[in-house]
Amino acid sequence: MPSYTAPTKDMQFILHDVLKATEQNIPGYDELDPDFTSAILEEAGKISSEVLQPLNTVGDTEGCVLENGVVRTPTGFKAAFEQMKEGGWTALDCDPEYGGQGMPYLMGTAVGEMFVSANMAFNMYQGLTHGAYSAIHAHGSDEQKQKYLPKMVTCEWTGTMNLTEPHAGTDLGMMRTKAEPQDDGTFKITGQKIFISAGDHDMAENIIHLVLAKIPGGPEGIKGVSLFIVPKFLVNDDGSLGARNGVSVGKIEEKMGIHGNSTCVMNYDEATGYLIGTEHKGMRAMFTMMNEARLGVGLQGYAQAVVAYENALAYANDRLQGRDVTGVKNPDGPADPLIVHPDIRRNLMDQKSFVEGARAFTFWGAHLIDRHVRSHDDDAEGLISLLTPVIKGFLTDKGFENAINAQQVYGGHGYIEEWGMSQFARDARIAMIYEGANGVQALDLVGRKLAQDGGKHVMAFFDMVKSFIKENAGNEDYDKAFLDPLKAASKDLQAAGMYFMQNGMKNPNNALAGSYDFMHMFGHVCLGLMWARMGKAAMDALEAGASDTEFYEAKIATGRYYMARQLPATAMHLSRIETGADTVMALDAANF
Ligand SMILES: Cc1cc2nc3c(=O)[nH]c(=O)nc-3n(C[C@H](O)[C@H](O)[C@H](O)COP(=O)(O)OP(=O)(O)OC[C@H]3O[C@@H](n4cnc5c(N)ncnc54)[C@H](O)[C@@H]3O)c2cc1C
Repeated sequence: MPSYTAPTKDMQFILHDVLKATEQNIPGYDELDPDFTSAILEEAGKISSEVLQPLNTVGDTEGCVLENGVVRTPTGFKAAFEQMKEGGWTALDCDPEYGGQGMPYLMGTAVGEMFVSANMAFNMYQGLTHGAYSAIHAHGSDEQKQKYLPKMVTCEWTGTMNLTEPHAGTDLGMMRTKAEPQDDGTFKITGQKIFISAGDHDMAENIIHLVLAKIPGGPEGIKGVSLFIVPKFLVNDDGSLGARNGVSVGKIEEKMGIHGNSTCVMNYDEATGYLIGTEHKGMRAMFTMMNEARLGVGLQGYAQAVVAYENALAYANDRLQGRDVTGVKNPDGPADPLIVHPDIRRNLMDQKSFVEGARAFTFWGAHLIDRHVRSHDDDAEGLISLLTPVIKGFLTDKGFENAINAQQVYGGHGYIEEWGMSQFARDARIAMIYEGANGVQALDLVGRKLAQDGGKHVMAFFDMVKSFIKENAGNEDYDKAFLDPLKAASKDLQAAGMYFMQNGMKNPNNALAGSYDFMHMFGHVCLGLMWARMGKAAMDALEAGASDTEFYEAKIATGRYYMARQLPATAMHLSRIETGADTVMALDAANF
């Protein structure tokens, strides 16, 4: 059976050596000293490995069951959810005005990685609630906030996000769910939503569904969509629960992974709904929380790779097969452990350099969100808006790829359910699809984000990379191992952007056919930047006389690997992009 040990030391390294949290002038960051963050991470790590991880296989094998219209979660989920609530883990980065602990989003993200690595399906009940909380917090009226948020912060009531319909997935403008205005100011919501995560379950007394629907007579398409609160049980003015609302579960979907999370068809039959914000501005409300939600899904992708890597590493040290060609390493045993073989090493280094780089990238993204939300920093908002599709698309693609790499270390045993490696790959797979499929993330990046505000944010990104290189150059070894590859990769990325500018105008397909490569290129440059920062931080720590030399030397060695063996992928992506749309579009649909 797989196990999970929280990577608290690696997280502390990013929080303090790389991001230098306490030196940032952001409200709330002054409290993040190493002792404080260590205490939180140790506690979160404990509950992750002792409570959540053991339920991961249970959730996978039992799944959720629909009984008499109510969803039953797997054995042990309910008790674990109570433990999470009692420990205050659901309220970590929520607003103190509604009972939250008010910690920076950065801390919520670090703790979130642990929970997701330990049990992704379980953590989604809380994750979706946080998404719904954020939407009401940002766009709800004071009355709505007072009524719903305190109970959502504690997860006594959970939340859902209802966008998808059978014929309207990516193209939400085609949705049919309608919201009829009533004399008392409420709306009657009627329609069907599918694939709704945590749509129903037995772990909370109420479920607050956020539902996108169209008010008849409004603008056509996506511009006519509004957002509504539709509680499972209506809430009386004194906060007590009232009548059951007109919302029910049609069925639970059978799916490839995240079996412990109930993915429901939700039927709305003249259910009472309350408008959030302004009529027809539902998508705007959704978009304000998109950066956070997509960062959360990017995190899911790499967090599965984290736990898969941990187990693959243990297996590679344990399993005896073959001999080291340069000399026997385990003379007393019948064979050497797998880890002696260069190809196993390559595989493990791919995983290690990805997960550590992805963690730094995601924590940096969370830090940008804090800079925007807590310090009202517009530049940080522009940058995170640009990077969000990269975090979501690149980290989930690579997270899945590396979960598969980890499975490969186990040989045939990785394919056998008993070892638990297939679950990591199956669970990671969904992160590439929901919250905007990755192809659509690439379109968002190239079609919208590059040109946003006249290209100001992408130019700021390139300037930032350039300044980093300039400010940190001077050590020949570091320059050669870290800065030169970063410079080359960043040049490839700029060349691709230039290609889109010159060729996308005359034929938009030239840009769209290269968008996926561009997203991956951008991801590599970001991880290259992260490794350059981590390499520098590790060198500085060693120079300052840090006692744990092995830890910092391992960081430098892992960074060197990424720069040498992964970052050159940008050249391949660039050459693909520069072939334009011709070969992609050459066939008529009938000839495929
Ligand atoms: C397990 C699970 C949980 C989910 N949870 C939720 C939830 O809680 N709430 C919710 O509302 N939804 C949820 N979803 C729905 C999910 O967000 C959608 O499946 C996703 O947005 C894609 O929509 P679709 O499946 O209709 O695919 P489609 O929109 O039909 O897309 C199919 C493919 O075409 C591509 N594509 C589409 N349009 C374009 C275009 N213009 N250009 C290029 N490529 C394009 C996409 O990238 C994709 O690869 C969930 C889905 C699953 C499977």
